[in-house]
Formats: sequence, structure tokens, C-alpha cells
Amino acid sequence: MLVEYEKAKASDVEVQFKDKAESKKFSKIAKENNAITALRVLDRGSEARRVVLNTITMAMVSDCAHHLYESLRCFEKRKFVPAFNLLRKPLLDSLMYLSWMVADEDDFYTAFSSGDPTQINQKIIGNRRKEIIEKALGKTELTNTIQSDDIVSTVFDSRNENGLYGLFQHAVHLITVDRIEIKTAPENFNFIFKHPFDDDIYETLYATLPTVLLYMAHLVMLLFDQIKPMDADSKNAFALRTINGYRFIQSEENAIILAEAMGTALSPIIKCETCGTALKVTLHNAARLLFTDTYRCSHCGKNSPFPLSSIL
Ligand SMILES: [Zn+2]
Repeated sequence: MLVEYEKAKASDVEVQFKDKAESKKFSKIAKENNAITALRVLDRGSEARRVVLNTITMAMVSDCAHHLYESLRCFEKRKFVPAFNLLRKPLLDSLMYLSWMVADEDDFYTAFSSGDPTQINQKIIGNRRKEIIEKALGKTELTNTIQSDDIVSTVFDSRNENGLYGLFQHAVHLITVDRIEIKTAPENFNFIFKHPFDDDIYETLYATLPTVLLYMAHLVMLLFDQIKPMDADSKNAFALRTINGYRFIQSEENAIILAEAMGTALSPIIKCETCGTALKVTLHNAARLLFTDTYRCSHCGKNSPFPLSSIL
């Protein structure tokens, strides 16, 4: 989404000036101050607001994507301390602002443009976390799939032993003593002596991260839709792929049910181009079809494209 929006310059805001005088006045103020101030002086508050929100969305999503990507790369290499450090900012910080913008754009913009950064400090929004996330989730297509309480408890609750908050704190601090539930063990430093091949952290991660990332992805989709309405088919394909992909990785039982359903619908009508064998929707092919719009022939091994998400 980010790359396509950037390429199309979709976040640029076009302003139609009334006449040459207004255009000239804009250029003068923009040169002396900046374009946003100029729009506000010219009483074009709604355009200024769109510029601000578009700019924040693009930059914050980009920052999130960079952090998440590097974090997952570190997890792949079992460098879990830097991995949690990298995961901490997008999940503890950015996720709240993205949620706030989706939940109540007016409220966010008023606080952001108040000129007082304490208005948008995490300490202030921390008290409203539950309310903001619940409201934002209510605007997504995920209300039947995930619970707002799960997001709050996974990311922000130090008492949740199966959540991520304690892991974030232990990754960033060698000693933690303020909260009993994440207190450093005696004669220890947090995390640094942990064996890199211990799997318990990965079990927590697999159980929690998909839910949070699914929520975040849908927030981003809604925010981009505000910048410029998305193509309806692409939007449906995104929802289908992410929600079913999420269900698929939630449990083997889900995966089998999904693969069977896909097999019933697709096997009778799709044959391998090379050897003519009917498509067999194995778990591997179900995941392939969902995530990459391709499948692998179970007979000859040829990979073929199949536009599942656009067809559905
Ligand atoms: Zn084949």
C-alpha cells in the first residue's frame, strides 16, 4: 500500500486557488513559513488538515514497516533482544497513534495541532487506550475475528505473562525493578543470558503477534483509504487475504477446514497447464493461494499463478 501510494503521489493535496491574488499570497506565506501555515492563513483549514494527516500517515506507516521488517529479520536469526527492541516502538507507540487517527480523526487532529506535544504524549493517551482501540477496531472488518481486549492485554499489560509487554521491557532494560511482575531475577540481568535456541519466546510470539499485526494492517488500510479511496476490489482482496490468512495460521484445524473448502471449490475447475493434473489444495497450496495467488502442481511441481483474491 505504502509503495503504491507513494508511487502515485496519492498523498499530495491539490488546492484550487480562487484567483491569482490568492495563489500569490499562498506562495509568499509558504516561503516565509510553510505551506500548512499558508493554507491556514488563507482560511483553508480543511486542506491544511488533509496535508497534515496524509503526511503523518505516510511517515508513520513507513517508520512502522521498517521497524517490523528488521525485527522479523532479527527473529529469524534468533537475535531476539534487538528483535524485541525493534518491535517495541511500532507496537507500544505507533499503534496507539494509528488507532487514534482511525478511532477519532477530529480528536487526534485537535490534539496534534494544539501546538502542545504533551497533548499527544503516550502518558495522556495511555489512560484512553482501551476506549481508543475498541473504537478503532469497531471501524475495521475485524470485529468478528479479534477482540480489542486481546490487543490491549497483549501489547500493554505487564501482568499478562503470555503477552509482549514484559518481553519489550526486558529487551530494552538490563534491570527492571518498578513492577513486581516483570522484576529482574536475583543475580541476573534481563534476557542477555538467555539461550538463543530457547523456543519459549517464539511460542509467545506466534500466539500473539499475528493478532496485533492483523489489527495494525487493517488500521493502515483504513488510513490510506482516507488519503485517497482505494480500489474496491483491491480492498476486498486485502480483507480476504489477511483475515483468512490469519485464520489459517491460528490452528491446524482451521487450516485443514479452509484447505478442504478451497479444494471443493477449485479442484474441479483448475488443471495444471503443463501436465493437466487437477489442482490439489494441500495445506501448502492453501497458504500459497491465500498469500501469494499461486499454487504448486502436486504431480509435476510446476508453480502457476492463480488470482484467488481478485476472483473471490
Ligand atoms: Zn503439473
